[in-house]
Amino acid sequence: MRIGFIGLGIMGKPMAKNLLAADFDVTVFDLNTAAIQELAALGANPATSPAETAEGQDVIFTMLPAHPHVEAVLFGENGVAETVKQGAIVVDMSSISPVYSKQFAAQLAEKGVHFIDAPVSGGEPKAIDGTLAIMAGGQPNIYEKAYPALEAMGGQIILVGDTGSGTTAKLANQIMVNVNIAAMSEALVLAAKAGIDVEKMYQAIRGGLAGSAVLDAKVPLILERNFVAGGRIDINAKDLTNVLDTGSALGVSLPLSGQVLEMYEEMKAEGKGADDHGGLVQHYEKLAGI
Ligand code: NAD
Repeated sequence: MRIGFIGLGIMGKPMAKNLLAADFDVTVFDLNTAAIQELAALGANPATSPAETAEGQDVIFTMLPAHPHVEAVLFGENGVAETVKQGAIVVDMSSISPVYSKQFAAQLAEKGVHFIDAPVSGGEPKAIDGTLAIMAGGQPNIYEKAYPALEAMGGQIILVGDTGSGTTAKLANQIMVNVNIAAMSEALVLAAKAGIDVEKMYQAIRGGLAGSAVLDAKVPLILERNFVAGGRIDINAKDLTNVLDTGSALGVSLPLSGQVLEMYEEMKAEGKGADDHGGLVQHYEKLAGI
């Protein structure tokens, strides 16, 4: 299987490395040439545009910040659509709104190109380990063709349903992760203000019902005051905006997502958009006068 991979950021770079480690032939592109060179040193074919990346490939992966970047890479000047062969599969692993997954799938279908939306959860550590949770949407026969490559990047890989099901599942995931981070921040600040040892409190509760993957991923970093992303606040604000837009289109009220988004927007305005979303605790600390 010949693979093109576009978007070599926090997530895409280790994912492309895992495809190389699994012996796939991988051609890579990013606007950041240093990332291309890093992958080329490991055996990837460097490309100079999305069009060059896609030419002759069986599967083209995109791992980009948001839907405008995906649209530009697929359909812009020197985009994937200019060179992609008929019967190829575009797998967009970016977290975007299902509205755009469906739109991109329809635009590619006009060229005889298949589309799978396959966003991920698990952050950089699972991207590095090749154990991401991958939630996919698309036709089962097309998903099966792309599966061997997905397997090189994922631990738990599930075809949730038709096109847009993967990105919808990711929105649900982002509600749970970000509201969980807000709940955790509220609890940590309450405990700190009460003067108890927060590290000991974390150890005391992590084996109980409040224990979670989010708790274990974020609290140790918060205790170290390490807010280097990870999952950036601005990227999670983008996800929660997509959550609220989708909720509004479906007539579903999502008050907690709205509150967390407001706090993220305030942090972005304070210049903390690039912080990890675990950095939300700083907002609660400010409110509590800590
Ligand atoms: P990132 O900002 O680190 O990487 C994005 C990469 O895309 C950058 O290297 C950038 O140069 C490149 N890029 C942007 N526009 C481009 C273009 N037109 N052509 C080529 N390359 C372009 O972002 P990330 O953290 O890797 O996230 C990627 C996606 O994965 C996002 O949709 C995000 O929501 C999602 N995601 C992130 C995490 C996380 O913990 N970071 C976890 C799960 C999902």
